[in-house]
Amino acid sequence: MSTIRTVTVLGTGVLGSQIAYQAAFHGYAVTAYDISDEVLEKAKARFAGLAKAYQHDDVEGARDGAADAALAGLTLTSDLAGAVADADLVIEAVPEVLQIKRDLYTKLAELAPAKTIFATNSSTLLPSDLKEYTGRPDRFLALHYANQVWRYNTAEIMGTADTDPAVYDEVVQFAIGSGMVPIELKKEKAGYVLNSLLVPLLNAAAGLWVDGIADPETVDKTWRIATGAPAGPFQIYDVVGLTTAYNIASASPDAKSQKFAALLKSDYIDKGKLGVATGEGFYSYR
Ligand code: NAD
Repeated sequence: MSTIRTVTVLGTGVLGSQIAYQAAFHGYAVTAYDISDEVLEKAKARFAGLAKAYQHDDVEGARDGAADAALAGLTLTSDLAGAVADADLVIEAVPEVLQIKRDLYTKLAELAPAKTIFATNSSTLLPSDLKEYTGRPDRFLALHYANQVWRYNTAEIMGTADTDPAVYDEVVQFAIGSGMVPIELKKEKAGYVLNSLLVPLLNAAAGLWVDGIADPETVDKTWRIATGAPAGPFQIYDVVGLTTAYNIASASPDAKSQKFAALLKSDYIDKGKLGVATGEGFYSYR
């Protein structure tokens, strides 16, 4: 049984807003914190957009008042001390910058009561990179969501060697209670389960294309028909967004990644084709 009732989410950006809204939708008392009142104004618009998305996607109960109730129940604040004063669980979703996260955990270690569990939503850092700053390595782990949490509702849960198994179990119960499917990792692993599978697939697909072996449609068709998967890797690139794909490929020193980055830029990004978000990427969604 989880004792988690009050949840505070730090960061109201793309993921933080979704994590906060999803927990509120499932009945948790949620406080969302961000650095300034200006940012919180933008967050209000994000939350309103999420209420609409849950209704549009017909998430169970959303059209019967739950979407609006979640919106009304959220507390927004730029006061960190107040935000965490009574939190059972703090979920951190601030920018993927090691120093920002370390500074934040250093403050949190002082501000949060001893009972509070800390969880990071970091995609690329390991909880071990942060645990010494938390002041409570036994009550700290990673809780990793995927973008569009109400549709792709995996919650990857990954502790360090110091994480108390009882704390891990409480977070598993919280994930279930907030409508997520817990994915339990037994050890730390960069990329968790999902990206350990997805990144090599996407890289292999890019390689087939830049080497002139098969075009994106052929690669995707093969993957869909032969495995029964609903989408091929280039369809997934369109969902992730081609700017993100470009940023990752251009930062990688190998020649194939550089060629992929150059092609993405000249044939897609420079033409405004950024993926599903702009209505066109490798495929058209208009
Ligand atoms: P984002 O840039 O959209 O949002 C970050 C938010 O954090 C902003 O609102 C910013 O004002 C706020 N912030 C900055 N400094 C802060 C501080 N010191 N305290 C509190 N808030 C602060 O970023 P995002 O895409 O939501 O990513 C956040 C985290 O979630 C990252 O660790 C990222 O790896 C992870 N993540 C992102 C995705 C994704 O698809 N975007 C998916 C899974 C996990």
